[in-house]
This record gives sequence, C-alpha cells and structure tokens, in this order.
Amino acid sequence: MTANDESWVKVVVRFRPLIGTELGYNPLTCIEITEDQVTIYPPGTISLTFTFNSVLEPISTQEQMYDSAPRNIVEAIMQGFNGTIFTYGQLSSGKTYTMFGETTEPERMGIVPRMINTIFDTIDTADENIEFLIKVSFCELYMEKIYDLLNPLGNDLKLKNNKKGPYIENLREVYTSCDFDIHELIKVGLLNKSHRDSQSHGRASASHTLFSISVQQVTPEGSYKVGKLYLVDLAGTEKGSVASSPTFKHEQMKSVNTSLTTLGIIISTLAEKTTSFIPYRASKLTRILQESLGGNSKTALIITCSPSPLNVEETLSSLRFGTRVK
Ligand code: ADP
Ligand code: MG
Repeated sequence: MTANDESWVKVVVRFRPLIGTELGYNPLTCIEITEDQVTIYPPGTISLTFTFNSVLEPISTQEQMYDSAPRNIVEAIMQGFNGTIFTYGQLSSGKTYTMFGETTEPERMGIVPRMINTIFDTIDTADENIEFLIKVSFCELYMEKIYDLLNPLGNDLKLKNNKKGPYIENLREVYTSCDFDIHELIKVGLLNKSHRDSQSHGRASASHTLFSISVQQVTPEGSYKVGKLYLVDLAGTEKGSVASSPTFKHEQMKSVNTSLTTLGIIISTLAEKTTSFIPYRASKLTRILQESLGGNSKTALIITCSPSPLNVEETLSSLRFGTRVK
C-alpha cells in the first residue's frame, strides 16, 4: 500500500522480549511467528493461528517496527493526508515503549521521536520556497475527561464543535519550526503525565495519551496543504491494570472498555469501507479522533503482546481485537 491509496487500515502485532517473572516460567514462550502469521499455543489446548499485515518478533528493533507501517503514515501526512497511529495491548505489553521508547539511545526511540525526525528530514530536503507551519498538542483522556499535558492547569477541558468539526476548548497548541522544541515538549508532557499519575494510582494505565501534530505547507504560488496525525497510546486492556479502590476500579474499567469497544467498531467499519453508520459519538476518544479516522485518512493499529504463557489469555484477546478491526 502506498500513501496515495485512499483510506487504509493496517494492523501490526509486536511481541516484546520476556520481562520480570516471565523469565522464570517454563515454557518460556507460547508463540511461533512465520512472516505475517503468529500461532499461539495455549497450555493444554489447541493452537490458534492469526494473520496480520505484519508480525514483529521479540527481537525486532524500533526501526523495523517504525518501517512496518508508521513511516508510511508520516509520509502521507507530508502529502496532506490525515492519519492515526494507535498502540493497543495489556498492561506492560510494550505500548509506551513502542510509541515513545527511550530517547536516551537513538536505537531505542519509539514512533513519536522517529516521526519528528522524518518530518524534519522531509522539510530539510524540500523546496526552500515552501513555507511549513507545524502545530502540536498533547493531552490525556482519563475517565472521559480531557487533561492538557502541555499545561498543568488544563484540567477537564471541554470538547466542542465548530464548522470544521470537533475541537478541544482551551487545549494548548504550540506552533514551532524546530524539532528540538518538539522533543522538549514531549518530555514535559510525559513528566506532567507521570506527575498526575502519582497523584491518583493506576491512572496512567487507565488513560489514553493523545499527541497530535499538524503540518501545513504553503507554496509561493499560494497552494496549500495540511496533514494531521494523531499518535495514541491507548489505555491498558488488562482487567487487573486499574487502581486498587474497588469503586474506582469498576468505573475506570467501564470507561476504558466503552472507548476501546467503540474504537474497535469504528476501525472495523472503516476497514470494510462500508457506508454503514459510524458511531463516533459513543465515546470521547472517537469524537476527538473523528477527523483523523475515515475519509481519506490512514490508520495503523499496533498491537503489543507478551510472548509468555503467563499472559496467553490477554494476548489472545488482543489478537482477536486486531482480527476484528483488520
Ligand atoms: P505498557 O505501556 O504497555 O504498559 P511498557 O511500554 O511500559 O508497557 O513496557 C513494559 C516494560 O517492557 C518496560 O520496561 C519496557 O521498557 C519493556 N519493553 C516493552 N517492549 C519492549 C521491546 N520491544 N524491547 C525491549 N523492551 C521492551
Ligand atoms: Mg504505558
């Protein structure tokens, strides 16, 4: 698939290396990967095989992951398309590692810093008469409430509609022409996120993190194009991943389930290219993303999984989600 196709949805599955107690379990893994297929061997029962656009081994690099689909989407943004990249999976399956990674070592950088590099490399080699304008925002969606990660005072922001579609009122949007600034903004945003998390336990895994970047280009002749990309680190799907207070736990789970179920329905409707009713309004997440899903936009869903038999139930449920939306 190339950027010039109309809308498309790609589903990539990524297994992470074993961590923690998984390293002491026998057998170590219950997966077998062959090209774009993965076979799961749940202990004591029959195996199941799933096919995706791409399946990445535990030893896969961040670069291989980026090349599996995200790079194509970023290139499409530079041609004026909209897009969304999601990481989906249980707690500790590698969603945040895949989306942001570790910026201390270049080879461990995730999608977001790589995306910034692709955008600025494209700008550096573009016709110098083209004027680029870049705008970023960074927010967190927790229990159907929007929090600004670039403004510690931006709490419970309202989702409004204007002629152009849905927008978040008072969300800080930063205009910049410097890649260093964007890398710094991301660090600040992630710090704000971990600060809010430390105030309410379990929040980080029950919230969706949405980074957006829009790139506008104007030529000297006045022709204009704009592409907007959302990068969404989704809430963890694991039932045990939420806060310890029983009432909170139930409410958090309900909210995460509603938004992920709606998202699944929407992506699968888009993948089928049918004209059936698309229930964007059923959750705040899908309302925010409405303009970047569907139409001629590009979507990648990266499903992160543990290769260990200890997590086989959660892995199967994530792979089933991926199969439904494919
Ligand atoms: P999640 O965001 O899904 O809860 P994390 O991204 O925080 O999970 O990953 C859990 C742990 O596993 C982290 O310590 C992370 O560094 C490590 N990890 C995840 N994926 C990989 C990978 N592909 N390669 C190396 N380490 C990984
Ligand atoms: Mg995470």
